[in-house]
Amino acid sequence: MERRDFLSDIAFYSAVSVGVPNMWRVTTRPKLADYPFTLGVASGDPTPTGAVIWTRLAPKPLDPDGGLEGQRIVTAWQVAEDEQFTKVVRQGNVTTAPELSNTAHVDVTGLQSDRWYFYRFSAGDAMSPIGRLRTTPAAGAATPLRFGFASCQHYEQGYYTAYEHLAKESRLELIVHLGDYIYEYGPTDGRVRRYGSAEVRTVDQYRARYAQTKADPLLQAAHAAAPWVVTWDDHEVDNNYAASVGELGMESDEQMRIRRAAGYQAWWEHMPVRVPRVRSWGDLNITRRIEWGATASFHVLDTRQYRSDQACGDGNQNVPCGDWNSSERTLLGTAQEQWLDAGLEASRARWQVLANQVRVAPFDERAGADVRVHMDAWSGYPAALDRLMTSVANRAPNRTVALTGDIHSSWVNELRTQFHRPEGKAIGAEFVGTSISSGGDGSDAFPNWNDNTRAENPQCIWHNGRRGYVICDVGTDQWKASYRVVPVVSRPGGEVNTAAEFIVQNGRPGVTKV
Ligand code: FE
Ligand code: CA
Repeated sequence: MERRDFLSDIAFYSAVSVGVPNMWRVTTRPKLADYPFTLGVASGDPTPTGAVIWTRLAPKPLDPDGGLEGQRIVTAWQVAEDEQFTKVVRQGNVTTAPELSNTAHVDVTGLQSDRWYFYRFSAGDAMSPIGRLRTTPAAGAATPLRFGFASCQHYEQGYYTAYEHLAKESRLELIVHLGDYIYEYGPTDGRVRRYGSAEVRTVDQYRARYAQTKADPLLQAAHAAAPWVVTWDDHEVDNNYAASVGELGMESDEQMRIRRAAGYQAWWEHMPVRVPRVRSWGDLNITRRIEWGATASFHVLDTRQYRSDQACGDGNQNVPCGDWNSSERTLLGTAQEQWLDAGLEASRARWQVLANQVRVAPFDERAGADVRVHMDAWSGYPAALDRLMTSVANRAPNRTVALTGDIHSSWVNELRTQFHRPEGKAIGAEFVGTSISSGGDGSDAFPNWNDNTRAENPQCIWHNGRRGYVICDVGTDQWKASYRVVPVVSRPGGEVNTAAEFIVQNGRPGVTKV
């Protein structure tokens, strides 16, 4: 025990009778009303020498302060080569605090590249579950990668059966999450599970929403199985928000910034991420890169925080309309656009991966001369989309793959220089993953996907409306994407099946169904 901790304990016990609150107490011997590792463990943002490991102490996860009443708890962590922890290679202590929900983020360094480790935490007499993490290959190593990606896990709308299967996928080395980890909405009758509060707005409410979601054992199993790379979409704050414009458009700039600060802080607290420290939680730069040796460079994007407001009142609109086509409008913001362009220019990795939220390839849902597209996706920002496609065409043609979430259905699309012209060249691929649970059971059919709209959307190769996730096997020359779907999410359990598989050859245009 450190001297400071010891003295703090003494100070606490001698001061109890005169009413010093628990808030003052730094302790190695916490008072725990129950087992504190109710939300599991996680790792993320791996490098060749380490990863972030995460946990939260919360004996009563839905209570304010997680039931810890303000204690500041010295929490031990260990990283070992074996699951029995006989070969511990790194260890230390971190003091958790109620200001940050008693979460621990340890940026572990000094590990060897390209290998698996086990990690765990302890507080008082309680030991956490064990998680597995994998470091990335050394820079320049042509090591293949097998990863999964997922998004959209509305807790009320379905069970996390897809995560049960994702956690059990063999040889899985990384999981990428593309947002809608929580939903801010209040409860709705008749769903398979129930949110604990009305629509969340304050930091304590967002925390409780993360706690309710993360208490799910299937989600915890997926976190424990491999390191994650997480970005956010809209529901971590507010449906379809754009920078500081809220869903309803009635909030002031100040009100939305406060709400963003609450949502962003709770997100950071609950995610195993390495992002720069902030002066204000209202601005949190989560844009970052994860490198998998010479095989893949992941550009983790944020298409929410810096975007122009949706054109023409959002929703699906016939275009052109309003300022939809304005070259001033942006989805990434100028700084992030330049950061992405510079990254695509500089990276020597075989594959350039956009860990993206909203659909890149437009889908004209209206048969006939009308063109009707989604205002919240890249199709709502055509000038920004043109800039992105030009950048990909010039810097990383036919080796760029966009990973997308948001729309609760699976799509395979070609990325093209000019989507609105039939002669537009294929320059990349987009794999849109379905939801884990959002939208409920789903179905194979999609009302607007028919012979007519197919003919008008040659960039769209395939669609499926079941729930699930995508597994990607990425080698030097070939990328294979396997769409894994579960039959229902309205009841627990069910097997996973591969709905379809697709291949992209590095350096060659187009996507091929296996
Ligand atoms: Fe969603
Ligand atoms: Ca049309």
